[in-house]
Amino acid sequence: MRGLMMDVPLTTTAILRHAERMHASQQIVSLTADHPSPADPWRYSFADLAARTRRLANALCRKGLRQGDRVATLAWNDSRHVELFYAVGGAGLVLHTLNPRLAPEQIAWICNDGGATLLFAAPEFAPLLDGLAAGLEHVRQVVWLTDAAHRPQGNSALATAANDYESLLAAESPDFDWPAIDEREANALCHTSGTTGNPKGVLYSHRSTVLHAMAGSIADVIGMRATDTVLPVVPMFHVNAWGVPFIALLNGARLVLPGRGAGDPATLATLINGERVTLALGVPTVWLALLQHLEKTATTLPSLARTIVGGAACPPAIMDEFREKHGVETLHAWGMTEMSPIGTMNAPMPGEEKLDDAGRRARRAKQGRAVFGVDLRIVGDGGAELPWDGRAFGALQVRGPYIAAGYYGHDTSPAHASGWFDTGDVATIDPDGFVQITDRTKDVIKSGGEWISSIELENHAVGHPAVAEAAVIGVPHPKWSERPLLLAVLKSGQTVSREELLAHVAGRVARWCVPDDAVFVGEIPHTSTGKINKLALRERYRDHYAKESPT
Ligand code: ADP
Repeated sequence: MRGLMMDVPLTTTAILRHAERMHASQQIVSLTADHPSPADPWRYSFADLAARTRRLANALCRKGLRQGDRVATLAWNDSRHVELFYAVGGAGLVLHTLNPRLAPEQIAWICNDGGATLLFAAPEFAPLLDGLAAGLEHVRQVVWLTDAAHRPQGNSALATAANDYESLLAAESPDFDWPAIDEREANALCHTSGTTGNPKGVLYSHRSTVLHAMAGSIADVIGMRATDTVLPVVPMFHVNAWGVPFIALLNGARLVLPGRGAGDPATLATLINGERVTLALGVPTVWLALLQHLEKTATTLPSLARTIVGGAACPPAIMDEFREKHGVETLHAWGMTEMSPIGTMNAPMPGEEKLDDAGRRARRAKQGRAVFGVDLRIVGDGGAELPWDGRAFGALQVRGPYIAAGYYGHDTSPAHASGWFDTGDVATIDPDGFVQITDRTKDVIKSGGEWISSIELENHAVGHPAVAEAAVIGVPHPKWSERPLLLAVLKSGQTVSREELLAHVAGRVARWCVPDDAVFVGEIPHTSTGKINKLALRERYRDHYAKESPT
């Protein structure tokens, strides 16, 4: 017997309507190209946001776009980008967010793969657009995300013909009849960063976006409240800033957006303290830089209660420093573009208070437990499921209603062949369901038939008080096939010898896991999404152990 309940579609427009109706006076606070100072950001209400979004939807319709057409953005985390998130999807179109930190030819490739005809770009990307324009196969029009006074100069035909966003909105009515949309229609497209081959498009639907926003709203997931002020440092151009622009409006939380200042710890500190931010979300490298800045400037973060860290393994040293110096609770999360992206969250469990300090610390370092909507398992080489005993490790696979079923423009995907999505991560799961990521499959170090976790070694290295950041890679070795090499960046003004650092790690792991060498470097390279670029490091240090004797 079918249930007798209303079949009301789950759409992002429903979130916007709810925010306007229930949280009309709540604020969105944003740095933008025309409001660049963290001391004086642009601020307006959710009611204004909704009206501006309707003006934008009118403008999009006037451009003759048809249902399913793609609209691209080259933009930072700012309030106009939020308006695009809601207007594009709500008008039945698909928002294709482009990562401006990629190489220009990769941006052009991704934009062409999506097929957008209209591009909204932040004015600082005018030089980038000049370089890209000849390679863009489908884009016919550009809109600068600023007002008339801040329109940039550009050389390409696309740039010179471009309108500015505020003029576009001023010409439109704040009334718009949102079309009825099937919840399974696409609303957004985001390409993976292509660290494992060509980037692939992940096509989100209204339904997956709303379900993900509802799951993210659970207290032990991201769990926002109307009394929260939320700062997403994770970029809106990569996996929709972990869904924060949807989760915040669904819950009526105040949203603070750092614009291009996301990469600058001084701007982040000013925004957190000036706007009394209670929750901030980002990748570990962002917090490493912020914590160093706070140390140097003797600044604390009295309003900040929680940080959510994911996208790469969060070293326990970051969590310790946040807790001890700033009273901030750090929650570790894992996910990926294909998962909208939240997969697991490490929230406290009953009984945890009985663990000793070391036990609690070890548990906090894990990536956490599956959130509602995510089913997961680990499998061995033959595809057989492995036990949840905290020791067996295998390929981590997932399925669920906000996990991609395939890739945009691809008929088949090997990662989806089993009906589960193969994440490309290797993990253990303990009897309580806590997932611990050992490595990405391609980053695992295989030494003499044993597997060594680079993440575990990095966590211990960053635990040394003199170390700011560490990376461990597998380097070809004549006897052991691969051996770990530790690369470390020291905190300014701190010293430690190679021998001392290796001894620090040696005291914490099995003997055969200890890196054969440690090299101090000025900087560790990062990918466009802030992860350690191990591909580049492996290339750079491939001959490091070549001279070792094979005997
Ligand atoms: P891509 O770089 O392919 O676009 P994503 O940006 O979606 O991928 O990143 C997903 C990957 O990032 C995961 O498969 C995992 O390897 C890594 N990752 C994300 N969060 C964590 C975490 N908390 N700990 C370890 N690795 C993580």
